[in-house]
Amino acid sequence: MKLVIASNNAHKVREIKKILSGKFDEILSLREADVWHETLEDGTTFMENALKKAREICQITGSAALADDSGICVDALDGAPGIYSARFSSAVCCNASDEMNNILLLQMLEGKENRAAHYTSAIALVYPDGREVTAEGYMYGRIIDTPRGERGFGYDPLFVMDGESRTVAEMTDEEKNAVSHRAKALDLLLSKI
Ligand code: IMP
Repeated sequence: MKLVIASNNAHKVREIKKILSGKFDEILSLREADVWHETLEDGTTFMENALKKAREICQITGSAALADDSGICVDALDGAPGIYSARFSSAVCCNASDEMNNILLLQMLEGKENRAAHYTSAIALVYPDGREVTAEGYMYGRIIDTPRGERGFGYDPLFVMDGESRTVAEMTDEEKNAVSHRAKALDLLLSKI
């Protein structure tokens, strides 16, 4: 079966393709499927946004569509940035970027002792016949003071998972994909289909 990944985030698409490799006949990014659509992410939860993205791309392509909505939830910030993780710094500067998001996160955590945080990934798979399968995964850890590492994306240079000393950006793709929130959500999803 052909699967279209409803995301324009190249890092995310690369991770999902690696984790799902061999599980579908063909896995295409939006660009590879020649779709130039951006979903308005106006849901109030990760799962609402994931379902909205997957439904829209399934309708546009006529193929099964899989969407991930994900982000980092920081305890000392009452769960922020959460569903706003990608555009966190857009409230204080014109264009949100991973680098600006990380700078803002560190500023907001200045002087705060509690560094606990977790990543959430909500995955939705929508089939052309209307079936919908969903799953969530989490990765728990903490935010450090100084970014380290060149791999991964987003908040990975600042995030150290429980039981590790390296940031996620210092782990290899294979190591991250064995334990990440996205990998756990995708594993659970695969067990349901
Ligand atoms: P989305 O594309 O609206 O789901 O937003 C995802 C955002 O959450 C990304 O742009 C990152 O800021 C953050 N995020 C999600 N997953 C990860 C991850 O695995 N590592 C680092 N940041 C992540």
